[in-house]
Amino acid sequence: MTDPVKQYVYSFAKGDGHNKMLLGGKGANLCEMTQIGLNVPPGFTITTEACLAYLESGNTLPDGVMKEVREQMTTLEKLTGKGFGDAHNPLLVSVRSGSAISMPGMMDTILNLGMNSDTLQGEIEQTGDERFAYDAYRRFIQLFGKVALGIADEHFDEPFESIKKREGVKEDVGLSADNLKEISEVFLEVVHGQTGRPFPENPYEQLDLAIKAVLGSWSGKRAVDYRREFGITPDMANGTAVNICTMVFGNRGNDCATGVAFTRNPGTGENIFYGEYLVNAQGEDVVAGIRTPKPIAQMREEMPDIYRQLEELRSKLETHYTEIQDFEFTIEKGILYCLQTRNGKMNTQAMVRTSVELVAEGLINKEQALLRIAPESLEQMLFPRLDPRADVTPLATGLPASPGAACGHVVFDADRAVAQKSVNSRPLILLREETKPEDIHGFFVSEAILTSRGGKTSHAAVVARGMGKPCVAGADGIEVDVAARRAHIGDVVIKEGDIITIDGTSGNVYLGAVPTVEAEFSEELKTLLGWADERAGLKVMANADIPEDAERALRYGAMGIGLCRTERMFNAAERLPIVLEMIVSDTLEQRQAALDKLLPIQRQDFIELFTTMAPNPVTVRLLDPPIHEFLPSENQLLDDLIQLKHLKDTMRGSEVLSATLSLLSNINGKIAPIQQLADSSLVDEAIEKKEAILKKVRSLFEVNPMLGHRGVRLGITFPEIYAMQIRAVLEAACACQKAGVEVHPEIMIPQVCTSEELKSIKVHVEAIRKEVELSEGVAPIFRFGTMMEVVRACMRADELAQEADFFSFGTNDLTQATFSFSREDAENKFLPMYNEAGILQDNPFEVLDANGVGKLMKLAVGWGRGVKPDMKIGICGEHGGHPASIRFCHKIGLSYVSCSGPRVPIARLAAAHAALLESTQ
Ligand code: ADP
Ligand code: MG
Ligand code: MG
Repeated sequence: MTDPVKQYVYSFAKGDGHNKMLLGGKGANLCEMTQIGLNVPPGFTITTEACLAYLESGNTLPDGVMKEVREQMTTLEKLTGKGFGDAHNPLLVSVRSGSAISMPGMMDTILNLGMNSDTLQGEIEQTGDERFAYDAYRRFIQLFGKVALGIADEHFDEPFESIKKREGVKEDVGLSADNLKEISEVFLEVVHGQTGRPFPENPYEQLDLAIKAVLGSWSGKRAVDYRREFGITPDMANGTAVNICTMVFGNRGNDCATGVAFTRNPGTGENIFYGEYLVNAQGEDVVAGIRTPKPIAQMREEMPDIYRQLEELRSKLETHYTEIQDFEFTIEKGILYCLQTRNGKMNTQAMVRTSVELVAEGLINKEQALLRIAPESLEQMLFPRLDPRADVTPLATGLPASPGAACGHVVFDADRAVAQKSVNSRPLILLREETKPEDIHGFFVSEAILTSRGGKTSHAAVVARGMGKPCVAGADGIEVDVAARRAHIGDVVIKEGDIITIDGTSGNVYLGAVPTVEAEFSEELKTLLGWADERAGLKVMANADIPEDAERALRYGAMGIGLCRTERMFNAAERLPIVLEMIVSDTLEQRQAALDKLLPIQRQDFIELFTTMAPNPVTVRLLDPPIHEFLPSENQLLDDLIQLKHLKDTMRGSEVLSATLSLLSNINGKIAPIQQLADSSLVDEAIEKKEAILKKVRSLFEVNPMLGHRGVRLGITFPEIYAMQIRAVLEAACACQKAGVEVHPEIMIPQVCTSEELKSIKVHVEAIRKEVELSEGVAPIFRFGTMMEVVRACMRADELAQEADFFSFGTNDLTQATFSFSREDAENKFLPMYNEAGILQDNPFEVLDANGVGKLMKLAVGWGRGVKPDMKIGICGEHGGHPASIRFCHKIGLSYVSCSGPRVPIARLAAAHAALLESTQ
């Protein structure tokens, strides 16, 4: 018994159009398009399994692959009526890479394979076009030389450029048949010289080498870097397929063309045909940005018949794939061929717009519209744009290739960009004539990309859009001189390190830094997030401490405030002195006097916050950090004292050091009038106060403040502090209620580990509630709950649920506590190494550790709800804004997540995804 022979090769007519893992995205779509009747040149695909087997075996093709390839070639010969290597009517093919996930330009492709000195003559005989045949030939020698034989570009580029120069032509279309013939001969010599043997003439040898080279490009440096950067793992794409496709020629004269198009504008999402083409050119000319192509709209005039066919292709593709397509086409002698299609890479703005419009057009439903968009990508919509009030004149204008504005220091090549970034972190703008896949590492470290050549579908544009980085392409007023590291725009010279601003939305380039402003929410985004809210289980709250933050959070669609950190309110410049007064006071009376001053301030804060958010809930966390955080450091105080004493010694009459100003202002909260400074008694007073604070700082010293005297512990030892805050919340609630504003304040206690702590605080809450009700004449509406950020609290969740109306997981502290990692030490010292060694997959402070911290949360939710089945339970802190963590929170049945304002849109979409993905599982 033998195993059935494994099939490694599928014809476009037979391959499974849905199996991208096996056939690669390009291959699967070539099959799919062939099978739905689109005009694809015949061909076949070698599977990714063959690639893996090839790479694993140290570069030998599995048995039988070449046999299958030969059979398919025979079929191609029959289909086309041509012969591979035939000296009269030759079949030429392309050998193209393509993995499950598209990695534009990262792997290799060879065109015109099958050309040699014999088939060249056959090509001339068939087409009667010598120029064309030599053009195809020289392209093949160069591409094959580069990809399959590993010869560096410059060996070809240099002689090519010098012949162009000699002939006085700028673009290769200007070269004559004789020129191209000469170039082919020079190229053949280059190959001979570089490899030590003549150019391979045997087409099957060419094919064998080309297939192996393309398979090998999967593990080439560019491809590996790209996969690492974009987190493409083997379960997403493993190996490249190889597509062998009958050549069609866009370079056979002026009734031929080649182009790339998007079914809609990928920069804005607008439903208008978008693309570029070049007459008399071969495919890679457009993508490589060697000649600047024409916009597709021009084809309507230039080739109306073809344009109509193209429009038809566009609509067939969209209807079939129900997704925006990015496709390649070639026109040979008036016949349109489709050579590739894939889902269009768009920026988020375009994704959002097309999502909403595809629903309106009935092509997809709302769920699909939501799932099309990665929550994290919404961050792009919060991109800055140029301040419309800035009165600036552009220095140059190119094509708006990827939207958003950015400003940075010019750098002229990718390696230098990387080198500069490693020295300092100032923003960079990569300015190049055109970009190539080799430049990819420069993209990663730059804010934006500017090119002087190439169109909106050029390499630079496609990659920048994928990364969400602003890009202006083809700004042809810019002359780049890489060697001298400068560029000329008219009379203006830009040197490396000069600052420019580019606007990828308009295509404008400016000298210097132009101010930018925050992005605005589009109507489409509002619509989409509205659909998200309808489907989400989780509510999305924001962390906000001041009314401005609350307003912004509301604009982002927050459904309340999940965490208001009251200590932030203490930090304002005019309040800190009162807080200091409270902390350094020795007696309860002194402390109460300071608190009495703070009460009206806090109450007013809460009134504003509650009113802004009405009728949504606002969760107010009582003072959390250890109080010495409000005090200056011991070293600072010692320094101040030395200076003050020095000042006292050297003080003569009106002789005053200006340093006094700031020293005194630190104490009194205001700047003393200049004439008073002469008075040495003021200095004495300052010294006295500094010494008192120093004493306090020393008495409050803690070995381990994170685990020290903070949160509820502070509330219990200094009950008057929490009493003031509780009173401020309740009085603010009453004030709002009396003004007819619907409010739902929640008082939240931090660092709780036992229900006795909650009970103890509740005694005060109850007493204050009674007093406030009496004095205000209305019963304040509020709820009382606890943070869950201590391991013991989770373990005692059932007990705590007896006392609390709600729980809120503080997963920053809970993560520290569960791992026994102090965050700063972990992140600075050992976490990176843990990640590298695979001991921990992620940074648990960024990605919620579902297995450990999450398990604890899940248990606590169960125990809490065992006591109060409908208990409101949420999460606040950084994890609340991260899609993966949000999914987990949904799974364990939390009621809400709370995150920073700008992450609210991301969280809303992620909450919808969590619900939708759950129901499809
Ligand atoms: P990439 O993945 O880098 O786009 P492709 O395999 O798609 O590489 O090919 C590069 C260029 O060559 C594309 O513009 C493509 O349209 C063109 N091309 C590939 N195969 C053929 C063919 N059989 N006939 C004409 N042009 C082709
Ligand atoms: Mg392609
Ligand atoms: Mg905390």
